[in-house]
Amino acid sequence: MKGLKGKTALITGASSGIGQAIAIRLAQEGCNIAINYRKNPDGAEDTEELAMQKACGDAEQCGVQSLLVQGDVSKEEDIQQVMQAVVEKFGGLDILINNAGIQTEYASHEVPTEEFDRIIGVNLRGAYLCAREAIQQFLEQNRPGVIINVSSVHEIIPRPMYITYSISKGGMGNMTRTLALEYANRGIRVNAIAPGATITPINDAWTDDPEQKAIVESHIPMGRAGTSEEMAAAVAFLVSDEATYITGQTLYIDGGLTLYADFREPWSA
Ligand code: NAD
Repeated sequence: MKGLKGKTALITGASSGIGQAIAIRLAQEGCNIAINYRKNPDGAEDTEELAMQKACGDAEQCGVQSLLVQGDVSKEEDIQQVMQAVVEKFGGLDILINNAGIQTEYASHEVPTEEFDRIIGVNLRGAYLCAREAIQQFLEQNRPGVIINVSSVHEIIPRPMYITYSISKGGMGNMTRTLALEYANRGIRVNAIAPGATITPINDAWTDDPEQKAIVESHIPMGRAGTSEEMAAAVAFLVSDEATYITGQTLYIDGGLTLYADFREPWSA
């Protein structure tokens, strides 16, 4: 993709799943990658190894560099330390991928307040704080910057039993558009991807169970779940110079999940 060689990207929650695939893909495109993880250094090391293998093949060095940065995005001081480490190592930041995310299942009238705060703290507050720090850095550098928020189809589809997750992703949609509007004339683009059902550890409950997986896939017009690599491909495009006129958008990558699958067959006059 155009314009990615030599850029520096920070990917939060990059020790597994979609974040890992994004880190690998951006390294393959020639970006230096900062791999943030919270408590899975082994996963982060796997990301680094796979990314460097994709970027450099068998060559010892190929101009792409990587950094592992521990930090919890729900903690402001951690985010500031992460940002500082990235700038120290690479001399700046060009791309932030707000990917870290969590969810838990509760009836909406029973969500413990601490649980509500914990999920919003990572998915929404954490994403905002990372965006805030990144934008400060972009403005200081006085060169273009790009942010991608990893949202969800639940940015617009209500999700009973996961109200906090729904609220966080709905808020993320507005955050994407607000930041995009506010900084559009200062060289900063902000977009989101909204994955549908994707095979990653967050979905262990159904990906490892053939019966559950079939139920999930029966709701998806394309008849299958997506892969992390399919999400990463869209991110690579959106952060590249192929997408220089795109800002404030959420790109749904969902095999048609947001197309009202119940209307596949006519059921009303
Ligand atoms: P995942 O569980 O593999 O990835 C989430 C990552 O976030 C993990 O690496 C985890 O360690 C990290 N993380 C959690 N809390 C953190 C914190 N406080 N600080 C830093 N990192 C933290 O699952 P995934 O599916 O790859 O999820 C990635 C993103 O994609 C999430 O934002 C999720 O909401 C979104 N998403 C996933 C799907 C799906 O079906 N898999 C669908 C829509 C959206």
